[in-house]
Amino acid sequence: MAKNSVEILLIEDDPAEARLLKEVLKSFNLQSFSLVHVNRLQAALEKLKCDYFDVILLDLTLPDSQGLSSVETIVDQAPNLPIVVLTNTNDDNLAIEAVRRGAQDYLIKRKINVEVLVRSIKYAIERQRASEILREANESLVNQIQTKTDELIKVREIDRLKSGLFSMFSHDFRNPLTTVLACAELLQKKSHLLTEEKKVHLFDLLRGASKNMSQLLDEVLLVGRADSGTSKCNLVNLDLTSLCRQIVDELQIIADKKQIEIIFISQNTLPESSWDESLLRHILSNLLSNAIKYSLDNSQIKFELIAEDKQVVFRIQDWGIGIPQADIPHLFEPFHRANNVERIPGTGLGLAIVKNCVETHRGYINLESEVGLGSIVTVTIPFTFS
Ligand code: ADP
Repeated sequence: MAKNSVEILLIEDDPAEARLLKEVLKSFNLQSFSLVHVNRLQAALEKLKCDYFDVILLDLTLPDSQGLSSVETIVDQAPNLPIVVLTNTNDDNLAIEAVRRGAQDYLIKRKINVEVLVRSIKYAIERQRASEILREANESLVNQIQTKTDELIKVREIDRLKSGLFSMFSHDFRNPLTTVLACAELLQKKSHLLTEEKKVHLFDLLRGASKNMSQLLDEVLLVGRADSGTSKCNLVNLDLTSLCRQIVDELQIIADKKQIEIIFISQNTLPESSWDESLLRHILSNLLSNAIKYSLDNSQIKFELIAEDKQVVFRIQDWGIGIPQADIPHLFEPFHRANNVERIPGTGLGLAIVKNCVETHRGYINLESEVGLGSIVTVTIPFTFS
């Protein structure tokens, strides 16, 4: 709604000064002003709560507030309202300080005339508008920069994921694929020359390579799920100790090939609780597989299941090659592999997926390691009872 008068709140305790200002404004014909006068800061704050004003004329010596603190109090309550400070003396320093703290202009009472007053009021209103526009533009700029930065980070992450996937497909996927093609060709073209034993061996190679490719694809799909945030927790009641024992038994078969013994310790009886079996299988199989993969032959792996008050700790310790300290902070990033594993095959995806599975289960993962001494991974997940 268009207003035809400028609404002024005058905060002045001296009635003579207030009367004088009213007279000065009355003498100005071109534009009409409407003036509300209060003589205390507290009264002004009350008025500001319920009435609309375009500008405030503020005396800096009030009975209930002195000097610059009046400016600060008003700016706090009405940050977008222009303030013109009225000073008694020619105290430029005080007036300038008032402007620094949020006032738009200042006037020296004894030097006020109609032109000076009207100019100052208009100037204060315009200056406040301009700084408001500037503030909004600034805010929108900051928001735009933040959005662009977030987009850039996302794009960079996607780029990293893409180049990781690209190198994974060109190396890790190509090797088993080459095996599949070579075995299939031999079985097709040279079948008549092959002994039964050789054929069985080729079929074994084919199965192994296909399984390898299928595992790689599973990992890529899990990374995709983790990245799009679609991982979910499907809880069912289960006996955690038996599940862990079962996973240990399955992995012991792989560990046997390196004469590694997995020692499973379940310290206390666990209450029946709810778990996502597939997430848990993924977490523990992956961590135990890593412990086997990065352990030396003829060694041991210790897997402890520790029930605490409200949570379960899964602690897997190996005495393998360990991880350089510089790599530890990056191990949960997709495709990151430590610099001491060049000769050991892997994709660098396992831990990124494990972390996501642990977080989906509202838990957290921690990794400690020292090169040549081994690694300890602890996963802590809160109990859920249904
Ligand atoms: P991958 O084993 O396929 O390379 P992971 O994501 O499972 O991928 O592990 C990331 C990296 O963390 C590994 O490449 C390896 O450098 C390091 N790592 C993980 N677990 C262990 C471990 N138990 N001992 C030594 N290094 C490990």
